[in-house]
Amino acid sequence: QSAAALCAELFDGARAVIAENAAALGDLDAIAGDGDHGVGMLRGIDAATAAAIGSDGKLGVGEQLRRAGAAWADRAGGTSGALWGAALEAMADALAHTDPDAAAVADAIHAGRTRIEQLGGAQLGDKTLVDALIPFDDEFRRKVVLGATVADAMRDAAAAAAAAAEATATLTPRKGRARPLAERSIGHPDPGAVSFAMIVGALVPRDG
Ligand code: ADP
Ligand code: MG
Ligand code: MG
Repeated sequence: QSAAALCAELFDGARAVIAENAAALGDLDAIAGDGDHGVGMLRGIDAATAAAIGSDGKLGVGEQLRRAGAAWADRAGGTSGALWGAALEAMADALAHTDPDAAAVADAIHAGRTRIEQLGGAQLGDKTLVDALIPFDDEFRRKVVLGATVADAMRDAAAAAAAAAEATATLTPRKGRARPLAERSIGHPDPGAVSFAMIVGALVPRDG
């Protein structure tokens, strides 16, 4: 299987988990935000998946991610769409000339993280998707440095993201639309952190 075919398949799996949870993500965003996180994520990841699958076989992973990122940012609307789109485009740059090995994937993930931190300006503890993204990136890199395969690093990093997303429940939002009604969000996890953990969870290989 080519890297591009695998990439298209991963987008499709992530799209499915967002489709399944779109209503719940919207409800979570409605607690202190504007309630559109589920529909926004679904619009974005639908467009990104179509772009990734449409390019299957004809393009390398870098160009595939660039098109997927542009489609996501264009179609999703909202803060999370702009951040996800920009992150995929940053990952595309990191993978532009590579048939990716584990180190290249780790570098691409780190490039995506850096773009989101720069664009959104959120820091650890601000109750955003960054609270799941940072532990995910750190754990993925740590495993790869220790010699793990992409699959094993992804399994552990996705678990770290899931735990971190859950742990945002205790935090008070300091960024984004949830800030004016921040108190209401205490006791509930951040929607963007939860959807991030769902997506990276869908990238973990099921077999073996
Ligand atoms: P909007 O807030 O524009 O309606 P969404 O509802 O799709 O967009 O996304 C909300 C999520 O975006 C939040 O739960 C949070 O995780 C994330 N977010 C908001 N602002 C920022 C920021 N400055 N940096 C990183 N993530 C952010
Ligand atoms: Mg919203
Ligand atoms: Mg909105």
